[in-house]
Amino acid sequence: ATRNVKPLQIEDISVRFGGILALDSVSFTVAPGTIHALIGPNGAGKSTCFNAITRIYPLASGRILLGDNDLASVPGHRIASLGVGRAFQNLALVDSATVIDNVMLGRYSLTKGGFLSYAVRAPWTMKSERRHADRAAEICDFLGVGQHLHRPAGMLSYGDQKRVDIARALAVEPTILLLDEPAAGMNASETAEMSELIRDIRDELGISILLVEHDMGLVMGIADRVTVLDFGRRLADDVPAAVQKDPEVIRAYLGS
Ligand code: ADP
Ligand code: MG
Repeated sequence: ATRNVKPLQIEDISVRFGGILALDSVSFTVAPGTIHALIGPNGAGKSTCFNAITRIYPLASGRILLGDNDLASVPGHRIASLGVGRAFQNLALVDSATVIDNVMLGRYSLTKGGFLSYAVRAPWTMKSERRHADRAAEICDFLGVGQHLHRPAGMLSYGDQKRVDIARALAVEPTILLLDEPAAGMNASETAEMSELIRDIRDELGISILLVEHDMGLVMGIADRVTVLDFGRRLADDVPAAVQKDPEVIRAYLGS
């Protein structure tokens, strides 16, 4: 794998819903190859931030850069092709489709013809489809779900479905992976495994990770840096040890 050298720079972004400023001039930078946590109370603006990065919500002001690319320079549906992968808090899998097909769905955004060239299955795309399938299987192996390739995704355990959803996000060969509460609904041993997996994605694939997660044990154990949001504003941005001692952060979030 080539070394990831692209920072994700969030520069003074604001997102407005009517009278609510869900994000108020927020800035932070996810350094290449790091795990960057985004934490804060419910309603702080964490998911809004993900939705701004993936262009689901428009920016009222500010800009978002991935390396030299301004994410506003491409249509929303091409964001993945710039190198942004996203796994969802509520699983975004097609239950009746096989694991490998779910992960292949993630790769459609990479192909020149997009989804249609797959749907039509022109003979000249068969070879590249084979190549894509091989890569999708490789990603599933990495995520530890390689033994389930041909089972319907809906039949897998909740933990394994989470892994398939992350595999789907990695299938776009991202520079940065957005993870929204990957450990939600998991027990202690599943959470520990998820934590290992997130580390492996950083260390073995060199992919940066922007992580929203409420499990502070997990966050403080693996994050290289932490940004704290409260009421749409950046309250703190530092290494975990400093954030944990920050009186404002304790008052707004960690103390509760
Ligand atoms: P978090 O993920 O940190 O819990 P959110 O980003 O979901 O917080 O929400 C931040 C604020 O923006 C909240 O006040 C929420 O009600 C508001 N908000 C989020 N999405 C929308 C939307 N689509 N329409 C209106 N308000 C929204
Ligand atoms: Mg949220």
